[in-house]
Amino acid sequence: MKKEPKIIVHGGAWEIPLEEQENHIKGCYNAVQAVWSDLQKGMPAHEAVCTAIRVLETDETFDAGKGGVLRANGTVELDAAIMVGKSHSFASVMNIKEYMNPIDIARALLDEDFSILCGSGAEAFAQEKGFPRISNSELIVEREKKRFATLKQENKYSLAEAFMPHGTVGAVVYDTEGNLAAGTSTGGVPLAPSGRIGDTPLPGAGTYCDNTTGGASATGFGEAILRVLFTRTACDFLREYSPMESAKRAVEILHDITHSFAGIILINSKGEYGLAYNTTHLARAYVDAKGDIIATI
Ligand code: ASP
Repeated sequence: MKKEPKIIVHGGAWEIPLEEQENHIKGCYNAVQAVWSDLQKGMPAHEAVCTAIRVLETDETFDAGKGGVLRANGTVELDAAIMVGKSHSFASVMNIKEYMNPIDIARALLDEDFSILCGSGAEAFAQEKGFPRISNSELIVEREKKRFATLKQENKYSLAEAFMPHGTVGAVVYDTEGNLAAGTSTGGVPLAPSGRIGDTPLPGAGTYCDNTTGGASATGFGEAILRVLFTRTACDFLREYSPMESAKRAVEILHDITHSFAGIILINSKGEYGLAYNTTHLARAYVDAKGDIIATI
């Protein structure tokens, strides 16, 4: 029997400044709207995840694709991951500098025998697959140039300080076959050294999916998230608890162990939503039981 599909996306967990709130809400709304009708017509969960994240990466509001935060060397480096609940297959790419949509590269990698590619190897793979190459400067926006200049001047970078304005993106989808997929895409944290990898492209840290429990995507301070296998922890809780309770418990564990901040979205194997965050905001959008797109922070 066909299932009622579900989709939830996020656009980062942090204190979103007033003047940026509307764009975050609109961006999340647009990502859900871009896939909702195809999802109802039977689009597979992993394709829907990819399409939604591509919309968010292309929107320069978010710290993913165009608009990514600048590293200490002044470049944008992107990471993205996708996981498919039925096959338990996982693919991610790291340190992408010359492609707008790393989620598409990760999606292409799902069809290969290997799971994770980084740096020049990932970009060679993208080129082989025919993805359009751009220059790194095309990913850089004025807002991030200004932030970079201010941070450099204040000489402010520390791991704690790194957790400041950014908007990693993610999506979790339950399709009409009852299959789940999850994906996440990020530019990382401002002024991080080139080559720094956070939680996003690591399975069970920023991205996780298993049809028997659920799928989840995280955002927040990567160095903390990866230490508690945040998304895997939340999905394990789904065996015993509701999606809301599972997300809440995962955030509590993250905070108890690392004293850090994050947000998470998830869908369980029955197609029920969960989310939790211990930041001021979590930009997100989903389709409710009436079929309306709800977007909020
Ligand atoms: N989790 C991302 C990272 O640490 C950042 C974020 O979610 O905004 O790379």
